[in-house]
Amino acid sequence: MRDMSTQSGFELSREHEEFRRTVRDFAEAEIAPHAARWDRDHHFPVDVVRKMGALGLFGLTAPEEFGGMGEDGDFTSLCVAIEEIGRVDQSMGITLEAAVGLGINPILTFGTAEQQQAWLPDLVAGTTLAGFGLTEPGAGSDAGATKTRAVLENGEWVVNGAKQFITNSGSEITSLVTVTARTGEREDGRPEISTIIVPSGTPGFIAEKAYDKLGWHASDTHPLSFQDVRVPEANLLGERGRGYAQFLATLDDGRVAIAALAVGCIQACLEMSLAYAGDRQTFGGPIGRKQGVAFQVADLEVMLHASRMLTYRAAAMKDGGAPMKDFKQAAAVAKLYATESAVTATRIATQVFGGYGFMEEYPVARFYRDAKVLEIGEGTSEVQRMLIARGLGLPVE
Ligand SMILES: Cc1cc2nc3c(=O)[nH]c(=O)nc-3n(C[C@H](O)[C@H](O)[C@H](O)COP(=O)(O)OP(=O)(O)OC[C@H]3O[C@@H](n4cnc5c(N)ncnc54)[C@H](O)[C@@H]3O)c2cc1C
Repeated sequence: MRDMSTQSGFELSREHEEFRRTVRDFAEAEIAPHAARWDRDHHFPVDVVRKMGALGLFGLTAPEEFGGMGEDGDFTSLCVAIEEIGRVDQSMGITLEAAVGLGINPILTFGTAEQQQAWLPDLVAGTTLAGFGLTEPGAGSDAGATKTRAVLENGEWVVNGAKQFITNSGSEITSLVTVTARTGEREDGRPEISTIIVPSGTPGFIAEKAYDKLGWHASDTHPLSFQDVRVPEANLLGERGRGYAQFLATLDDGRVAIAALAVGCIQACLEMSLAYAGDRQTFGGPIGRKQGVAFQVADLEVMLHASRMLTYRAAAMKDGGAPMKDFKQAAAVAKLYATESAVTATRIATQVFGGYGFMEEYPVARFYRDAKVLEIGEGTSEVQRMLIARGLGLPVE
């Protein structure tokens, strides 16, 4: 793949660009050569997760006391890392995104000092992973419709229910999942939702067989079941009844991180298409000389810059402490635009490759399969449009 880093489209700091180079070198050496095989074998490479941990990628937003980067890291660095890993392998990109955004972030933001001490050092080191169990068979976009219940009995939460499509939830190094559950009823009659930490191996907690997915074959995704799962009362994450607010806040950050993953996908599509358009000969010359192809590659360049700018603008707002309302809107805009662009970009790249684009021998086919879920996870495109319209003041349901 050609190096396009000098064409960044958004002025990141020199430190961020140096960090990008470090992650790119790592991704090229440790991930790119193996990504096709992991995809074909549906193999989740735990050893590479550990190496990503050793590089500090799981600690980019964590304080030094838990082994994190402290002042040397920020949310923008995390987006750079996700973009660069995602440029060579979307499966490993989502593994990093979910590990930090959905695994570490809720404990870091809402956990008690004891919970943080107990779980964060290993999660930040990348020697363990945590899942975030929000989605259920009957509750996805409408996550507040959760049916999983947790009842307090003799100083223990007893959890019953099911979650589905949960990333990093059943790997050999998964140490816990945070689970949203109904813990009662509020005064206004709506369900009280709280978040409970359920350690792996707790009796009654089962990560069922991994899904057979369209893409992200090398990422770890399971349905989860909970049957009379007993955990200490102290495993309540943050305050009782705050589960809904907690997952909304978690997903705001996650949306920007997913947008960064989409940017990595578009970057890969541009690099692959550009190289192929220069090599492939038809009618006595390279296909890149034909306007029909050249214009498609030009469109990829536009999508890349626009998506990258929206993503890093939102990340900069997070790092700079922008008002929450503004950040939420920027996160939804970035997620919607970058992920829909990524799906379009993979369609274009596959078209540029012609029949070869349909063959697994080129990575473009893998990116085509991997891209679709970007428009679904951490809030579908429709949910983003709903949030954006609401942000504009429209009373949309
Ligand atoms: C590979 C993968 C990994 C995932 N990882 C996780 C994870 O780690 N943790 C987790 O909790 N979840 C995870 N998810 C779940 C994901 O967040 C949900 O799939 C997503 O939020 C959509 O929910 P749903 O699948 O129930 O679809 P539904 O909510 O049933 O939506 C179906 C369709 O209806 C549309 N729709 C629904 N409501 C509205 C509305 N009000 N207005 C307009 N359109 C609407 C949707 O946009 C969609 O097109 C993962 C999903 C996948 C595929």
